[in-house]
Amino acid sequence: MRIREILPIRGPSVFPCRTLATVPGTHYRVVIIGTGFAGVGMAIALRRAGIHDFVVLERAETVGGVWRDNVYPGCQCDIPSHLYSYSFAPKADWTRSYPLREEIWRYLEDCTDQFDIRRSIRFNTTVTAAHWDEDFRRWRIETPDGEWTADALVAGVGALSEPSLPDIPGIESFEGPMFHSATWRHDVDLGGRNAAVVGTGSSAIQFVPRIQPLVKRLVVFQRTPPWVVPQMDAAIGPEWQQRYARHPWMQRLVRLWQYWSREVTVSGWTRMSFLRHLARRMATKHLEKQVPDPELRRRLTPPYEIGCKRILLSDAWYPAIQQPNVELVETGVSEIRPGAVVGADGVEREVDAIIFGTGFRVTTHPGFDHIVGRNGVNLGDHWREKGMEAYLGTTVAGFPNLFLMTGPNTGLGHSSIVFVLESQFAYVLGALRAMEERRVAAFDPKPAVQTAYNAEIQRRITKSVWNSGGCSSWYLDARGCNPTLWPGSTVEFRLRLRKFDADSYESIERRQVTADSPATVAATAGD
Ligand code: NAP
Repeated sequence: MRIREILPIRGPSVFPCRTLATVPGTHYRVVIIGTGFAGVGMAIALRRAGIHDFVVLERAETVGGVWRDNVYPGCQCDIPSHLYSYSFAPKADWTRSYPLREEIWRYLEDCTDQFDIRRSIRFNTTVTAAHWDEDFRRWRIETPDGEWTADALVAGVGALSEPSLPDIPGIESFEGPMFHSATWRHDVDLGGRNAAVVGTGSSAIQFVPRIQPLVKRLVVFQRTPPWVVPQMDAAIGPEWQQRYARHPWMQRLVRLWQYWSREVTVSGWTRMSFLRHLARRMATKHLEKQVPDPELRRRLTPPYEIGCKRILLSDAWYPAIQQPNVELVETGVSEIRPGAVVGADGVEREVDAIIFGTGFRVTTHPGFDHIVGRNGVNLGDHWREKGMEAYLGTTVAGFPNLFLMTGPNTGLGHSSIVFVLESQFAYVLGALRAMEERRVAAFDPKPAVQTAYNAEIQRRITKSVWNSGGCSSWYLDARGCNPTLWPGSTVEFRLRLRKFDADSYESIERRQVTADSPATVAATAGD
C-alpha cells in the first residue's frame, strides 16, 4: 500500500522542552560541530531566532576552540578586545586592550551560560564522519558513541585548529620533549635547559619572550623573518570597566572606532600600495628603535612586502632575541638527531627540548576528509583535486545543507573574524527559513554559481599583497592559489550574506515516501 505522506521524519522546528542534547540516534534540525566562536555563536544565533532543535558536538570537555587549546605562555589575540567579541554580547570588563587567551576562553564560557547553550552541547564527542544521506535527505553524523542525524550540518571546526608539524628527517629520533605551540606541555620544565624553537610566526613571537628568561640557551630557527609593529597593548583599569558597564554606548563607540580604523585599511592589502608604505615605515622604525645592531637588523628585515604574511604585533620579540642566551639561526631545520637539531646551515646544535611554532594545516585540514556529500564525494578528495572552494565561503556544491563556518576565502588580514562569523550566522538562519517557506529538504549551491563566484574571488585576490607580495604563507595552497582570505571589506561580506539567495541553489525536494521507503521505515520505527 502506498502512503502519500510527505516527509514524516522531521520533528517540529521548535523544541523548547528538549533540553538534553545527549542522546545518540536523535534527529535534529541542526547539528553543529565545535564550540569555538563559530559553534557557540551559531548555537546562540539559533536560540535567539527561536530555534531550539539543535545539538552541538564537541570533542573536548569544555568550550573554547583554539582559545581553549592554545595554552602556550603569552598567548594573546592581535585584534582589540572590544572588537573580538560578539556584537550581541559586549563584555565591559576586558582587562587589556588586546585580550589574553584566558579572558577570551572565559568569555566564551560565560556566553555559553548566559545564552543557555550548555545544555545543548554534548562534550567529549568527536565527530568521526558525516555523510549526506540521499535517501533520507539529511546528514548522518557519526561519533564513537553513536550516530545523530540532521537536516543541516554546521561545521565550526576552525581553520587554525590542526597543528602542522614539519616532516623533518629524524624527527622521531629526538629523545627529549618535543611539542607544538598548540599542544603546549606545561609538564615540561624548561628551566635551565637548552631549547630550540622552530618558526617565527604569530605564536612563536608570543611565547619566545616568555621562555627566554627561563631557559639556559634558546636556539630560534627563523626561516623567514616576520614584519613586526608595536603592539600598543595597555591595561584597562577598573574605572574604565565600570564606565563601560554603566554606559554601554561608550563601549560601542570604542568598538566602532576599532572596527572602522581597520576597515579603512583594507584597500592597502587588496590594491593600494600607499597604505602599505605607511605600515612598512612603522615596522622599519620599530625595528630600528629596538635593534641597534645594523647587521642584526638586516637579518631581521623581511624579504617580502609587508602584509604578505600576517603582520605581527609585539614589543617583546626583538628585545627577547637579543638576549645573550638566544641564538637566531636564519635557516630552517634540515635534520633532527636524538639530542640535537641541525639547521639548513649544516651546524648541529645540542638541545634538550624542541618547540614547534610551525602553524596549522589550513588548506589540508583533516576534518574535510570526514565529510561525504552527494554521490559519495569526499570533501577532502574533492578539494585536493579541484582546489578548496565554496560559495560565499559557506556552502559547497554537492554538499547540501552543509554550512562551513570560516570556510574558504573568509579569513581576514585586517579585522575580527567574529564579524565574518556573525554574517555567516545570519546566512544560515536565512537558509533555514527559506527551507521552511519553500517546504524543501535542502539547498545545494548550483555548481555554475559557485564557479563564477570563485572566479571573481580569485581574479580579485590575485592583485592582493597576499598573492603578489613575494612570500609563501598559509594563505596560499600548494598550487599558489589563495583559498583562505576574503579579498574585500567586511562590509561587502556582510552585505553579500545578508539575505539567503535561494535562487543560487538547487532545491532538494522533501521526499515523497512510500510504505517500503527508508524514510517510512524510520518514521514507523519512531524516529
Ligand atoms: P604561522 O604564522 O604559519 O608561522 C609558522 C612559522 O613556522 C613560520 O615562521 C614558518 O616559516 C615556520 N615554519 C614552518 N615550517 C617550518 C619548517 N619546516 N622549518 C622551519 N620553519 C618552519 O603559524 P602560527 O605562528 O602558529 O600562526 C598561525 C596563525 O594563527 C596566524 O597567522 C594567526 O592568524 C593565528 N594566530 C594569531 C595569534 C594572535 O592573535 N596573536 C596568535 C597565534 C596565532 P616561514 O615563514 O618561512 O614559512
